[in-house]
Amino acid sequence: MVKAAVCLEVGGPNEVRDITLRPLGPTDVHVKITASGVCHSDLSLGTGVLKQSFPVVLGHEGSGTVLAVGSEVSQVSPGDRVVLNWAPPCRTCWFCTHGEPWICENSAGASRVPHARLGDLDVYPGIGTGSFAEETVVPANAVIPVGDDIPLEIAALLGCAVLTGVGAVTNLAKPRPDESVIVHGLGGVGLSALQGARLAGVETIIAVDVSPDKGELARRCGATEFLLATDDLSAQVRELTGGRGADVALECVGRSATIRAAWGTTRRGGRLVIVGVGGNDDRVDWGALELFYFARSITGCVYGCTDPDADVPRLIEAWRNGKLDLDALVTDRGDLSAIDAAFGRMRAGHGGRTLVLP
Ligand SMILES: [Zn+2]
Ligand SMILES: [Zn+2]
Repeated sequence: MVKAAVCLEVGGPNEVRDITLRPLGPTDVHVKITASGVCHSDLSLGTGVLKQSFPVVLGHEGSGTVLAVGSEVSQVSPGDRVVLNWAPPCRTCWFCTHGEPWICENSAGASRVPHARLGDLDVYPGIGTGSFAEETVVPANAVIPVGDDIPLEIAALLGCAVLTGVGAVTNLAKPRPDESVIVHGLGGVGLSALQGARLAGVETIIAVDVSPDKGELARRCGATEFLLATDDLSAQVRELTGGRGADVALECVGRSATIRAAWGTTRRGGRLVIVGVGGNDDRVDWGALELFYFARSITGCVYGCTDPDADVPRLIEAWRNGKLDLDALVTDRGDLSAIDAAFGRMRAGHGGRTLVLP
């Protein structure tokens, strides 16, 4: 038996319970969790905004040490330090074989297979990983070895926030240094997007949030300007960008109102990237004429358009060279009982990432 934070039903609390992990299959890896970041998607899965089977152990931004591997697993061994990948690509489907592993058609499979039992109940792993626990069992392609020098606590952040936020900038938006980038919403992903813009050498990096206490955090992550999400936001952004608006806007909230606000801060012909994960009933409205006239491109960005197996080592290299500040993203720490409090801070718009240390 291992301790895990179990959410029994939609909207329910995350309670620390003893679960029994499923026996290790031939292609499974058993991981002892060191740390797990609390992501906004965990909140959306727990409240039913995103689809999820229950009871569930949430948590998908995890790191840990391999305890045991199935008979057919060769890529990792017991003792290896790893980061979890919540969208492990199959490497065989059309998308994987055409260079788009982040939208692999088989990557969501693990979340539909129970990974543990709670009494007589099957328990499902949140987005296939279930890292709000002392230990978990995942498919072998969901672990990425990280070597020995990076502390596992901060390495956990690579698994979702950093891959997603940095990747949206460096893999998809690809701004030139002389272009301006604006990031809307400064949770873990938004703060990582700021760092992605800094990595890309962008000179004008504008950060936007509803909460004034995000300003200092934003500057530490690379923002050259910090603006509050107020009604005259687009006018303020035009003032900072030669009257045009930003070349690239990244929406890291996943709400129709923020998407419209981000659209309004983008220049004519600019790029709007939707990074936040929203609900399907939250509709965004555009006029046919404005879509034509403003000539902007709008792109959804899943998991930072990354191939985690290749990008995690690259991000660790950036961390090693002092170009990626992972410590800056962490503003709170707690044990398995701290998840609902972390959701509360998230709802109130406070802080960056909370790390759960089981
Ligand atoms: Zn996430
Ligand atoms: Zn695939």
